[in-house]
Amino acid sequence: MTTSSAVVVGTGIIGIATAYYLAKTHGMTRITLIDRGQPMAFTSAQSGENYRNWWPHPAMVAFTNRSIDLLEEIARDSGNRINMNRRGYALATRSDNIDPLVTQLHDGLGSRADELIRFHRAASSDTYAPFVAPDWEGVPDGVDIVQNRALIQERFPGYDPEVQTVIHIRRGGDISGQQLGMYMLDFLKSVGVKRIIGDVTDIACDDGYTTTVAGPDGDVTLRSDYLINAAGPFAGRIADMLDVTLPVYNTFQQKIAFEDREGAIPRTMPFSIDLDGQQIAWTAEEREMLLEDPEFAWLAQDMPGAIHCRPDGGDAGKWVKLGWAYNEKPEQASTTLPLDDNFPDIVLRGASRLNPALTKYIGQLPRAMHHYGGWYTMTEENWPLIGAMGPPGAFMNCALSGFGTMAACAAGELCAALVCDAEVPDYAAGFSLDRYDDPDLMDVLRASSKGVL
Ligand SMILES: Cc1cc2nc3c(=O)[nH]c(=O)nc-3n(C[C@H](O)[C@H](O)[C@H](O)COP(=O)(O)OP(=O)(O)OC[C@H]3O[C@@H](n4cnc5c(N)ncnc54)[C@H](O)[C@@H]3O)c2cc1C
Repeated sequence: MTTSSAVVVGTGIIGIATAYYLAKTHGMTRITLIDRGQPMAFTSAQSGENYRNWWPHPAMVAFTNRSIDLLEEIARDSGNRINMNRRGYALATRSDNIDPLVTQLHDGLGSRADELIRFHRAASSDTYAPFVAPDWEGVPDGVDIVQNRALIQERFPGYDPEVQTVIHIRRGGDISGQQLGMYMLDFLKSVGVKRIIGDVTDIACDDGYTTTVAGPDGDVTLRSDYLINAAGPFAGRIADMLDVTLPVYNTFQQKIAFEDREGAIPRTMPFSIDLDGQQIAWTAEEREMLLEDPEFAWLAQDMPGAIHCRPDGGDAGKWVKLGWAYNEKPEQASTTLPLDDNFPDIVLRGASRLNPALTKYIGQLPRAMHHYGGWYTMTEENWPLIGAMGPPGAFMNCALSGFGTMAACAAGELCAALVCDAEVPDYAAGFSLDRYDDPDLMDVLRASSKGVL
């Protein structure tokens, strides 16, 4: 039991999860959560809410596996209030040379790789476990690599018939991030944690922290022993208040969701990623017009892979979600979001390549289509920053990029353990600012793929 006090800046999923594990594991309940808006209302409201344990480095595999363990614990304890399911991540390619991907899987899975990777090369396979039911329990771990077109068509009937290989990551699916946040907030409220609305405008550090908050009724100052920066896209600005520069930047990413009235996407389809780059299938006339306009010519040229699609709203629902994180331009984060009106058409056309039935919607997306987006706050190497941040007692839990929903539990648990000087897992050191003093690790990370899904 600790009587120290903490201020947590940010009530997105990362600030909430940090407070949750401070209170639940370490008994620290003198916590004040501060946010300029309602909980879970900024980046955390825009998440695709997908999770997986597929990463090119064993530290990220261990970190997300730990987070998924904690999510499963919450699903079990709450009667699956977080709507966790597990049909996996299906990565599709028209190539039969997947050596670089298999190497990447081996790098991530380490010594257990041979045991966890299963190849299926015949037209039927008794060892390729079905994914008809959404349940997260009783599903195998590891990866099924399917390299037979007939088997692919049987299991993924909506896919482009040219797909030659499907790499099916089995520990993956989606959850309700909002319900996760609310479950944790209910617990925090029950143990007396306070929450105030206002803009953090200044933080002073002496033998503790004095945080100034511009609230609806004027400025309020708060004293605390610890200061935790979970300000998402504004984490850099909070760090600046303590004269700390964080190596983070923001890129804007978008998604669309719409009612699949035509039943184009099978409800049992796993979260599906088209790995192959493509040129969007514009008509010859459209292509010519795009190429003539310097602002839009890029749309008629080679586009990267990793466009993704999944059913949304459960097996009885009708909605689908599409996303494509092709934007890599670093930008200053803002609270008004720079949605691109062309994005829905671009992502729909791109996703139609893997799921040809989606072409029915080109030029006629339902009017109630939801187009949304948010900031990926990231480091160049796309690893999070969790740990000490400058003066003693200040901590950061940020740069969760496109994986903050799935990693929230492990990130919150780790940050809470560091604040309370408790034992931490092996991956802790790599997520701290100390990693920049390890050139070998940084070389490995910069060389590996960004995986921003
Ligand atoms: C389009 C999109 C799709 C995504 N899909 C997935 C996915 O499928 N799976 C996955 O795991 N992750 C996904 N993510 C990533 C995930 O959503 C984020 O990593 C996560 O939500 C970050 O949470 P956070 O708490 O750090 O940030 P936020 O949710 O942004 O919370 C930070 C909070 O800090 C507050 N704040 C900042 N500065 C101040 C200040 N000065 N004063 C007061 N309050 C302040 C903000 O108001 C905000 O509420 C996606 C992200 C985007 C944008």
